[in-house]
Amino acid sequence: MDIRQERPFQKPRRTVQRVFLHCSASDRPEDDAIEVIRRWHLERGFSEVGYHYFIRKNGLLEPGRSLERIPAAQKGHNRNTIAICLHGLHKERFTEEQFDALRDVALGIHDAYDGEISFHGHCEVSPKACPVFDYREVLALDRFGTLGLSGVQSGKQYPSVEEEPRLSLGSRGPAVEHLQELLFVRVDGIYGPRTERALKRFCLAEGLPVGVGVEPAHWRRLLGRVALRDGAV
Ligand SMILES: [Zn+2]
Repeated sequence: MDIRQERPFQKPRRTVQRVFLHCSASDRPEDDAIEVIRRWHLERGFSEVGYHYFIRKNGLLEPGRSLERIPAAQKGHNRNTIAICLHGLHKERFTEEQFDALRDVALGIHDAYDGEISFHGHCEVSPKACPVFDYREVLALDRFGTLGLSGVQSGKQYPSVEEEPRLSLGSRGPAVEHLQELLFVRVDGIYGPRTERALKRFCLAEGLPVGVGVEPAHWRRLLGRVALRDGAV
């Protein structure tokens, strides 16, 4: 089953423009739980744990503060943000399970906001190393902090440009799934309005024709990016 069908993210009513990533600054197994972080934060006088999500070393995503409330996580930069914390201190001790869980929730957030949201490290607004791990690489962020092509499985073999069919609004099937992976939107094999919007953003960014569906020129550019990513060219 595709885990991305079951995203935990529900868009709050307040405005959100940025997501900030944190680490717990501990590698101790006994600290690997939102309850421990909550206790630390309550001891510091917070009314509730400061983060919206906590990701354990085993990849379990634990909800924290309600998404309807602004976080207490990036002093002076909390408004209009979501805060996610991964358990860990040393760069090499974060786990692939954590990164998978982070990509999954990030993808859910990116989708819910139609890509109009950016991802940042705490270190970008504070003289701290937090979140320590290379979040730009994990989320394939561009220089604006927009989620990149992490939806594509590295090394996955896609058909060639000649083998991929022309697609338009309403198309269905495996080629639409490829398209959705390449555009980094939810994969359901149905080319609907969400996929169309993502395609439009891609076309505008890449200088490709908009509103004609997916033609060989589009596949060439989309598949070329996979080849670049995998070092095949
Ligand atoms: Zn932090």
